[in-house]
Amino acid sequence: MERVIVPVNSIVAVGSLAFDSIQTPFGHAERALGGSANYFSLAASFFTEVRCVGVVGEDYPEDALAALESRAVRIEGIQRANGRTFHWSGRYGDDLNEAQTLDTQLNVFETFAPTIPESYRDSAFLFLGNIAPALQRSVLEQLPKKRFVALDTMNYWIGGTREALLDVIGHVQALVVNETEIRLLSGERGIAAASDWVLKRGPKIVVVKRGEYGAFLRMGDQAFAVPALPLRTVLDPTGAGDSFAGGFMGYLAQQGGEPTFEDLKRAVVLGSIMASLTVEQFSFEGLLKATGSEISRRYEQFYQLTQFPTFLPPARA
Ligand code: AMP
Repeated sequence: MERVIVPVNSIVAVGSLAFDSIQTPFGHAERALGGSANYFSLAASFFTEVRCVGVVGEDYPEDALAALESRAVRIEGIQRANGRTFHWSGRYGDDLNEAQTLDTQLNVFETFAPTIPESYRDSAFLFLGNIAPALQRSVLEQLPKKRFVALDTMNYWIGGTREALLDVIGHVQALVVNETEIRLLSGERGIAAASDWVLKRGPKIVVVKRGEYGAFLRMGDQAFAVPALPLRTVLDPTGAGDSFAGGFMGYLAQQGGEPTFEDLKRAVVLGSIMASLTVEQFSFEGLLKATGSEISRRYEQFYQLTQFPTFLPPARA
């Protein structure tokens, strides 16, 4: 029988590999494994091959890299440097949508110069995860065949390195940020005006993550919104945003071509599903336990949740 070769549209993902110390109303975790690149890569690995770029310190456990490899994530682009791994401390109050940063220790990220391995250079999809904008820019420049680039960021960089961030935003197709971040970036309060602001600065696509209130998508004049799955247990929202981005980009890369608005809608739903799997557990336990059939089950649940009759009976005069 003739073998059919299905092209794999891999994603290069750069971001933090971290220890996170987290307090939530339901418990706390000390130096749990985290970081934007970890959450993103594990979530996207359900859809396509992920090639991770980042840096860890001498204190980072081998097992944690093995967890990535267990999902076939490529790790040749992860450097091990002398010094300590990036460490983020954060707290969530009753409002689980908003993390309060208590401390950020860049450690090995201070001197990190990302180098894209030769074996990654044919990738067409690139995710610039939450990391210093200058590092995002450097990765962008090292990927000659990129066709679709999405970028995430956070308050820390919007406030501290705004010019560098605006520069890199001008070179990406999609901005994927949360509601607080897009407000801070644009100076606009509402997401419609804030996404207009972004669409004038380069990206053709804007996704706003709204925690338990769901997600909002813009492409040109077209808009789409989904709620979040109503979950019975939320233990730790850390990583929800990166897991969302992983599901979103993973699906777009799996499709391979220039995304249509329909593709983007499915990608937003899959992003929301990957986030729902993450927040039910601390660290990335939820993603490591996830299965394709659970993702399909939640997709159907999403569909049921968002259907309503198109026919509207006439209103009373
Ligand atoms: P989120 O998906 O938005 O909840 O992002 C959570 C992850 O972002 C955590 O695992 C942190 O390690 C990581 N993080 C927090 N602050 C920074 C920062 N300034 N730069 C890079 N990564 C960060």
